[in-house]
Amino acid sequence: MEEKLKRLHEEAHKSLAEARTMDELNEIRVRILGKKGELTQILRGMGGLSSEERPRIGQVANEVRDAIEGELAVRTAGLKELLKEQKLREEGIDITLPGTPVLRGRKHPLTIVREEIQDIFLGLGFSIAEGPEVETDYYNFEALNLPKDHPARDMQDTFFISPETLLRTHTSPVQVRTMEKTAPELPVKIIVPGKVYRRDDDATHSPMFNQVEGLAVDRRITFSDLKGTLDLFARLMFGMKTRTRFRPSFFPFTEPSAEVDISCVICGGDGCRVCSHTGWLEILGSGMVHPRVLEVSGYNSEEVTGFAFGMGVERITMLKYGIDDMRLLFDNDLRFLQQF
Ligand SMILES: [Zn+2]
Repeated sequence: MEEKLKRLHEEAHKSLAEARTMDELNEIRVRILGKKGELTQILRGMGGLSSEERPRIGQVANEVRDAIEGELAVRTAGLKELLKEQKLREEGIDITLPGTPVLRGRKHPLTIVREEIQDIFLGLGFSIAEGPEVETDYYNFEALNLPKDHPARDMQDTFFISPETLLRTHTSPVQVRTMEKTAPELPVKIIVPGKVYRRDDDATHSPMFNQVEGLAVDRRITFSDLKGTLDLFARLMFGMKTRTRFRPSFFPFTEPSAEVDISCVICGGDGCRVCSHTGWLEILGSGMVHPRVLEVSGYNSEEVTGFAFGMGVERITMLKYGIDDMRLLFDNDLRFLQQF
């Protein structure tokens, strides 16, 4: 009988070692340790043993059963762990696979340049002012020394909404609005970024475009202040080697007025296709605020003076990045926009 038990143990040990699934382990457990199992069958035969043999065989039987149960438990735990690892391997995420790309937005070149312009003037002590895009004839023209039927209105052919309201043709009305609010306090030092509208549409003009206007009003402001400010702006914007040139010009709301050119950003002044072989590029209009504009806005033109300037953000952007068609800035073509 002892022999049988030992064989059973050996056989169980072998079967357990070979088992590869939970079902197989379970089957072994039932076959050997179950109510009708082999161990139980052997123990049934104990009745035929002598009273001396019985305790000894009983002890051996218990040892065999404990040993088999122990092995079974170890195998079960081991197999569970193995199956779990297998499952993780099969279901696991392969972190080396490429992911779904997240498309990141970026700033529009016009925004980049407008912010650059703003940063330069904020650094010079200007603050930002804003005003309505639908403007009255008064603020857009009359208060800026452009009475009705003034021929200079032709320079800014515009979209009228009613005889007295229109889409502003420049950001200059905000000059008047700001001075009205501030007068007689001094100084006024603002820049006015914003959209403006004109009846233009070709490779270098758009019916809607962006301007940044600047205005400084105080006692003893001179044309030198204007020149110094714009010269510094040009160098900060286009590089410290940039030179500026002021040419006499006409605007109804400034006197004297000047167009400002910078040395060509492409050829540095030697002459090339971009600058039409002149070496210069026009970037903005400027001048000393016309006394009538100061008076209309509530300042005594005998006591205070000021300078003003206005630039197109599109123009600056095109010069800065060498873009030759303004419409690219409004087409929303990602192949273009992703280059910035
Ligand atoms: Zn050039």
